[in-house]
Amino acid sequence: MIRIQDIIDKVLFYHPEADTDLINRAYVYSARVHEGQVRLSGEPYLLHPLEVAGILADMRLDETSIAAGLLHDVVEDTHTTIEQLSQDFGPSLASLVEGVTKISELTFQSSQERQAESIRKMILAMSNDLRVILIKLADRLHNMRTLQFHKEERQLGIAQETLDIYAPIASRLGIYWIKTELEDLAFMHLDPEKYREIERLVAARKDEREKYIGSVRDIIEKKMAQAQIQAHVKGRFKHFYSIYSKMLSQRLAFEDVYDLVAFRIIVETVANCYEVLGIIHGTWRSIGHKFKDYIGHPKPNMYQSLHTTVIGPAGERVEFQIRTKDMDEVAESGIAAHWSYKEGNRADEQTRKTFAWIQNIVEYQQSVQDPAEFLENVKVELFPDEVYVFSPKGEVITLPTGATPLDFAYAIHSQVGNQCIGAKINGRMVPLRTELKTGDSIEILTSKNQHPSKDWLHLVKTAKARSRIRQWIKTEERERSLALGRELTEKAFKRHRLSLASAVKGDKIGEVLDSLGYKTVDDLLAAVGYAKISPLQILRKFVPQKQIEEEARAKAEALAPVEQALERQKSPSGVTVKGMDGILMRLAKCCSPLPGEPIVGYITRGQGVTVHRMGCVNTQALDPMRRIDVEWGKSTAETYPARLLVSAMDRVGLLADLTAAISQCKANIVSANSGAVGEDNIANALFTISVSGKKELESVVKALRNVPNVQQVKRV
Ligand code: MN
Repeated sequence: MIRIQDIIDKVLFYHPEADTDLINRAYVYSARVHEGQVRLSGEPYLLHPLEVAGILADMRLDETSIAAGLLHDVVEDTHTTIEQLSQDFGPSLASLVEGVTKISELTFQSSQERQAESIRKMILAMSNDLRVILIKLADRLHNMRTLQFHKEERQLGIAQETLDIYAPIASRLGIYWIKTELEDLAFMHLDPEKYREIERLVAARKDEREKYIGSVRDIIEKKMAQAQIQAHVKGRFKHFYSIYSKMLSQRLAFEDVYDLVAFRIIVETVANCYEVLGIIHGTWRSIGHKFKDYIGHPKPNMYQSLHTTVIGPAGERVEFQIRTKDMDEVAESGIAAHWSYKEGNRADEQTRKTFAWIQNIVEYQQSVQDPAEFLENVKVELFPDEVYVFSPKGEVITLPTGATPLDFAYAIHSQVGNQCIGAKINGRMVPLRTELKTGDSIEILTSKNQHPSKDWLHLVKTAKARSRIRQWIKTEERERSLALGRELTEKAFKRHRLSLASAVKGDKIGEVLDSLGYKTVDDLLAAVGYAKISPLQILRKFVPQKQIEEEARAKAEALAPVEQALERQKSPSGVTVKGMDGILMRLAKCCSPLPGEPIVGYITRGQGVTVHRMGCVNTQALDPMRRIDVEWGKSTAETYPARLLVSAMDRVGLLADLTAAISQCKANIVSANSGAVGEDNIANALFTISVSGKKELESVVKALRNVPNVQQVKRV
């Protein structure tokens, strides 16, 4: 069992002027309030905060963090309050314990919604003081080490949560020794059989492999001595979970996972690192694309190292990591290495900049309402597969693997993203869906007339780009719906000689909003635009029901049955406005567009959206501001009217042959008119037919052209 003196000794080793009194007082306090409590293992509870403080000392944290580690469970598990801690140990320590307590209250293994909410809170806690998360990681590590005392179901839940959330966070913060231990412990509980199998396989040829490690180390050390480079060579097995992940992701059998061993060469200077790389490549054949320069392009968590994979002396792949002592320290302890006690309670400016991604998540999560969407964003941010690309000014931009020029554009500025019309990679125009590669130099072309579209969501990888595009679409959608809703409602009011403007200013409006369940007039009108409610529903609140009914009856009587049929045919469900649902729509009579044909929509006063054929002459006179993108929906079960003018040399039975040709194509004839035959003996017949789309119309036209004597078939 670890003793408080061991912890103090550890702290004094890296921080000789540490306030050990604070640590001692925290220990005495913790021992007093946890007195009599036991862990599931049967051991005194105090053991847990002691172990957590010990792990924090291994992370080389400041004395306030160590003391907070000793006290991290007192608010949750004893009668101690935050106020009391603040009085006795100062506000800084109290706020750390408060942060840890808040995270502990979260449950992660429930529904996705609650999981997202929990991560959201945890990230908020992190953004205030990263030490909160470091203490939580230490707490989780000790709990994972003693997980066997829990019931099995609970074990699985905690282990899964550790793998999903805590290990990636440790990795993102660059604390690899915690990441690997958490992963292996979680793996052991989640899949004990596989874990033991890999453990056995690694052990089986242990002697052989150790001999191999020794021989490679000998070769390197000899070469280093020749080149007069001071170097420390470490060879080690990869941790079990990383072997297992590799087997899974590359579908390999254990025997086929070659680079089970990784070598680390620690040298004095950066220049040495590149020299050593040269020596390694001079000794063994390198696998070209496997070389990674994280010294020139550090990872966002400050990790620096050269990575290369070569074909080693036994003909197998061997991975080398080459770095300086300082870099090695950062690689092992990550952010903690930068959280120097010398800096006091705050991380230095550089650390804050480097961990800006946490701030990013916090910033963008505020615009995200949907928990699933948020979770998806966080997962992308947490998994650190990145590419490093350059702006035209030579700035390095870090993006996740699979990111596209659009992600890059949004990383530069939201407006650059929103107005992006194209991109050049290394001077060449590329499609926006092109995946960026490390080292690419990217230039974004913009236009003021460009706007984001829903399709862009399929092209982007980053949370920032996604949330900015969604935000733009939502705002746009709402503005359109509001304008549309206002027009429709105004028209309905005018029909009853009422003014919408004065109605919304009147006394009654509050009551009306309440009864329909909307907060503001804009919300209400937007709902009309979205077709969630009808203008009539609003009107009814202002006009006596009887009057409306009478007028409706009068209108129904006035409408001829034919017109009613046409009214039905206008049914709009075959067309959708891009990015909008439930908009009122009708097909323009002037050009009667058919499914499959290019179309365009115009918001029309009081009529919802009118859909024209692209290029219809009538659209030229319409206000371009009212133009919106529309597209044919998937269902084309409906039919649409189309008019065809057929010209033919008159003969007996011509009309019968024409109608037969149309019927054979399974199109319905709505009406047929034939004019008088002129001097030239040409007969003109005008058919209105109903077809399901462009294809069917084309087959009708073809069939008509094949009728003997037909000279011309024209769409009118
Ligand atoms: Mn704890």
